[in-house]
Amino acid sequence: MATFTLRTIEPTRFGSGWISGVLSAALGLIGLGAVLCFQFPQFLTTPEARAIYPLPYVRALLHLVLVAAFVLGSISVSLRRNKALGTVGVVATLVAAVLGGSAVPADDELVAGPFLGVDWFLLNLIVYSLVFIPLERLFARRPDQAIFRRGWRTDLTYFFVSALLVQVTTILTLKPAMVLFDWAVHSGLQSWVRAWPGIVQFGALLFVADFTQYWVHRTFHTVPALWRFHAVHHSAEEMDWLAGSRLHLVDVAITRGLTYVPIYLLGFAEGPLFAYLVVVSAQATFIHANVRFEFGALKWVVATPQFHHWHHAAHPEAIDKNFAVHLPILDAVFGTMHLPGDWPRAYGIGGGPRVPDGWLRQLWWPFRDRLRR
Ligand SMILES: [Zn+2]
Ligand SMILES: [Zn+2]
Repeated sequence: MATFTLRTIEPTRFGSGWISGVLSAALGLIGLGAVLCFQFPQFLTTPEARAIYPLPYVRALLHLVLVAAFVLGSISVSLRRNKALGTVGVVATLVAAVLGGSAVPADDELVAGPFLGVDWFLLNLIVYSLVFIPLERLFARRPDQAIFRRGWRTDLTYFFVSALLVQVTTILTLKPAMVLFDWAVHSGLQSWVRAWPGIVQFGALLFVADFTQYWVHRTFHTVPALWRFHAVHHSAEEMDWLAGSRLHLVDVAITRGLTYVPIYLLGFAEGPLFAYLVVVSAQATFIHANVRFEFGALKWVVATPQFHHWHHAAHPEAIDKNFAVHLPILDAVFGTMHLPGDWPRAYGIGGGPRVPDGWLRQLWWPFRDRLRR
């Protein structure tokens, strides 16, 4: 008898229709998202990225993705009693085909305006899941932890929303610094900094950003009104690359906004700034990952998964420790380092407040608790 459920109730080994179902659903939804980007580029795509897409290749790739999603979905539906995954893949592919598939014309006459970064979400999802899912399968710290562990839908929503709102959060981050600290800009200082070699600027940028981030992060842990927003990040009870996305919008806006102030004032060149943005996004994802690498002596120099896993540990001795994202030396200097040789046994807030599941409930939760008091 056929069933439809998003819970995994049958075996997932090769030949059970699970792998083909997951791939079909993922590829089908990615293909559908890409077709929507072709249909509504002015609303759904990032202007900076739009200018550099090699369209003929994107179309050819999209065609392959849709064909693969359809074939894999059919395989899964025939192998598996639970038809949900295969059906999602096949239906997404059919909707994409009805909307024009890979042949849908892209409008060249685009006006600048507000947009949602659907293309940015798809690119991030493809790159990060291609790197991290195999890495976490091959070098798992906890091999028994599922890819689709508890709360994965909540965290994927965070991942989706943060890419979708890339324009909004960028403005939220950059504008306050520019408006409020315009008076403090010193062009002599900025041109001096900009004359440094790129690698020196990058190092300075990393240090300045992490120093600021350290104190903002520490304040989020110590001021009760702010802790409610940051507790959302700590509510994840299983660690993997996707869990790092769980950040309340208020947390993101305040942390990034303040971290940007010294970066703005020092006026770093575009190259080092871009390199920093890539590194911070990759490292922030990596330090949450379910991987067992320990990096020998390097773990005292650069923040590693083991270092940040202790920040998330539900152990009394690890509370309010390891605030840095890049440089553990900040925690060593300010007395908040906790890096024993082993790994935490449990993650989360422990006896702390009970954060609800789901993106929308977590968005509202810090405000609701305040109103109740
Ligand atoms: Zn924290
Ligand atoms: Zn974290």
